[in-house]
Amino acid sequence: MVSSRPEIQKTIPFVGQVPKSELESWVSLLSEKMPNESIRPFTDLSAEERKIAEIAIVANPDPDEVAELTSLKWVHSVWAGVEKLVSELGDRPFEIIRLVDPELARTMSDAVLSWTLYLHRDMPAYAALQKKRQWEELPFTRASDKTVGILGLGNLGIEAASCLGSFGFNVIGWSRSLKDIKDVRCLAGEEGLKEIFKKSDILVSLLPLTPQTRGLLSSSLFSLCKDGAGFINFGRGAVVNSRDLLKALDSGSLNHAVLDVFETEPLPQDDPFWGHEKVTVLPHISAPSDIGTASSIVAANLRTYRETGTLPKSVDKKRGY
Ligand code: NAP
Repeated sequence: MVSSRPEIQKTIPFVGQVPKSELESWVSLLSEKMPNESIRPFTDLSAEERKIAEIAIVANPDPDEVAELTSLKWVHSVWAGVEKLVSELGDRPFEIIRLVDPELARTMSDAVLSWTLYLHRDMPAYAALQKKRQWEELPFTRASDKTVGILGLGNLGIEAASCLGSFGFNVIGWSRSLKDIKDVRCLAGEEGLKEIFKKSDILVSLLPLTPQTRGLLSSSLFSLCKDGAGFINFGRGAVVNSRDLLKALDSGSLNHAVLDVFETEPLPQDDPFWGHEKVTVLPHISAPSDIGTASSIVAANLRTYRETGTLPKSVDKKRGY
């Protein structure tokens, strides 16, 4: 919380390592939503303008560029994940605000439902049968007889849980602090983590990457999975121990994995996930930020700050999300 009314600061740099056309779209839409502000690409600012900028809007910024903004009070990311910002800029004295957008949560829940159905209706197995020109009916189980476990019950996880629940799946979820969510059995703590692995037919990770979650999903948990369980990772790649995940797929502890996020992105050409018959690789597309709605949210946050001096809830740098 910032209590004193802030001075109007005219130039807000947009700092981002994104394609030029995307950067132009962000600057153009943000400017449209905030006609009283001057928002310009970082590279267009003079050294003096960089020195006095108090607010920046960022999308995967180059830390060296942010280092030139020596008067920053806060930065607003237009992305939801902040592990890179926290690790690269967490020791700087400004607040980090991340994108919390209901539209992003809807997009993610739609991806979670789509790929849960892909596993639920055995699409990888039918695609393999077709390749072999083999006419074979696999056993069918109703959604109501399946349990989907969601790891991470934040903005994205809660919406995904509600979407899966409306579709008829039994939904259980796990988070750091114990939640109370209608129609979702909520778990927390180490025992809760083991339980969600034991009970789920399909596991969906929507966990952020923090020092506590790095490598958290490993052999000791995969070995608890139900026979034929499926795994979806739409949170962050490094939350999963990749070698252990491959072992779990090869040994049959897991039946199939849908992976949208990886420790190294783009996924290197020689990565074993590419050619693995039990893996579906997606290029980090499950929930892209919507430039229109994200710009409106950033604009509303900035307006509130200008009018009242209040910042939106910022990232807890110690916790890492
Ligand atoms: P969020 O609101 O911060 O929620 C994070 C959830 O994870 C919370 O429920 C939190 O528990 C839980 N959590 C964090 N650390 C934990 C730990 N050590 N043990 C157990 N639970 C833990 O984040 P969000 O907006 O839902 O986004 C989640 C992640 O999705 C982002 O961080 C980003 O990495 C990823 N993402 C991916 C895409 C994509 O396209 N693939 C797009 C957007 C975002 P509490 O509720 O107790 O705090």
